[in-house]
Amino acid sequence: MSRVARDIAVSLASVGFFFVILAAVQASEKGAFAPTGDPAAQVFLKVLPQPLDRGTVGLVELAPASEECQGTFDGRPVFFFLAKKEDKTPGRTPGTRWVGLFGADIMIKPGSYALSIACPGQPDRATQVVVRDKAYGVRVIKVPSRQVELSPEDQARAAREKILTDKALATRSPEKLWRGAFLDPVNGQINSSFGRQTNLNGILNPRPHAGADFLVPTGTPVKAPARGRVILVGDHFFSGLAVYLDHGQGLISMYFHLSEAVAVEGRMVEKGQVIAKSGQSGRVTGAHLHYGVYLNGARVDPMPFRKLTSQL
Ligand SMILES: [Zn+2]
Repeated sequence: MSRVARDIAVSLASVGFFFVILAAVQASEKGAFAPTGDPAAQVFLKVLPQPLDRGTVGLVELAPASEECQGTFDGRPVFFFLAKKEDKTPGRTPGTRWVGLFGADIMIKPGSYALSIACPGQPDRATQVVVRDKAYGVRVIKVPSRQVELSPEDQARAAREKILTDKALATRSPEKLWRGAFLDPVNGQINSSFGRQTNLNGILNPRPHAGADFLVPTGTPVKAPARGRVILVGDHFFSGLAVYLDHGQGLISMYFHLSEAVAVEGRMVEKGQVIAKSGQSGRVTGAHLHYGVYLNGARVDPMPFRKLTSQL
């Protein structure tokens, strides 16, 4: 990207606009993908937004493409799928476009990262994605140490449960199960604690808060934000009663501190279906719903992600 393009990109991003970068316009050797006036026939790759905040999801649009295209970003796979094309022309039916989603993990080091893409029968493509820091804040807490030290039994239990949750989070189903905009799992006031780290008695916890907390009373129905498969239901030491959904292509959502799980492990759930009731189980100080979204292992803020899915 040229310096001018990058400066424009930064200034647009700073006022909150998504924008488009024509990063790799290449004519194919055989001319099969030469522009014909139909934008869908043009060879291009674009990434938005640039720069990308740590803890958020980026989108890459690609043409020509297919579901056989496979990308890599920060060591994680990028899958491609057909999404609706943004067309704000009144009365015009939007077409479709091939897009892939990639997550900049909450603890990724700010910098420039390669996004590389391979499609069968095409030359490999690559572009750079700039990930910038975002201040998510640090919460400082001081409590008597006996209140925070886990007993050997609790430590052993938490370690056993981590094996189960790590396995669920490593699920990579090739088929995309969700479509269109994600819903909020509950209606309610949301605090902005995604990404926040905790300094407990002078020691910074390296694991930041990897979800959004909705402040809702115990018993509030929790709905699946999108279609998916229930991959784990468990009562865990830290998360309390928890439900994990696999939406396919490495996209996993999770719901913690529940009072009741309605979802059954192994079953499919539809968008809007009640999967649980909120509560205050596990290590919490009050009733709320913890809602987390992981994209191929990258911990991302569910709220900007929901906004992104509304364009798909
Ligand atoms: Zn939480």
